[in-house]
Amino acid sequence: MKILIVEDEAKTGDYLRQGLSEAGFVVDLARDGLDGLHLALNESYDLAVLDVMLPGLDGWQVLRGMRGAGRELPVLFLSARDEIDDRVRGLELGADDYLVKPFAFAELLARVRTLLRRGTKVKEADVLRAADLELDLPRRRVTRAGQRIDLTAKEFALLELLLRRQGEVLPRSLIASQVWDMNFDSDTNVVDVAVRRLRAKIDDAFEPKLVRTVRGMGYVLEAAACA
Ligand code: CA
Repeated sequence: MKILIVEDEAKTGDYLRQGLSEAGFVVDLARDGLDGLHLALNESYDLAVLDVMLPGLDGWQVLRGMRGAGRELPVLFLSARDEIDDRVRGLELGADDYLVKPFAFAELLARVRTLLRRGTKVKEADVLRAADLELDLPRRRVTRAGQRIDLTAKEFALLELLLRRQGEVLPRSLIASQVWDMNFDSDTNVVDVAVRRLRAKIDDAFEPKLVRTVRGMGYVLEAAACA
């Protein structure tokens, strides 16, 4: 397993590199955002640990660059305690987890292992399921209760995202950035429209309903969400 660390503080960077190496990972360390993004795009990593405040490009820009180039590896953000809005912003931009500095190394290692387990499961799964709904990735085919359901490319991407992260409430802005590559603060009405169309196809004629609106927060797909 190969991990990219992007951290400009020498002490923290060295500490992380040493700790993760000792834990059995192959580790590359970049000291600024430009190098970090360059490595992320030219090497193959299983996970990235990104500091938020970086010279060159900041952590958000590195993440955007990675996601924009189709790099779906899990990302753990590091940030200082007073940057409270960062957590929301990071998750909206597609970060997978967030750790506030200073942190115990054991905590970071636990988060890294959890993210990697999640990532491996996703990579191995060709068919994503919830209740009797199936999304077959290689065949690009969706069925519910054995019935074929035709989705547009965007609806398919939306359903794939909801299935991959089922049980998690996904903010509209996160959905917009992941499915439409739209900026997180742009109009997200397009998300509501697409979710409504998707529900009409996968939920209206079936029980239990899988996609749920969480008021003021976003959408969640849950097989256990029985009415
Ligand atoms: Ca920093």
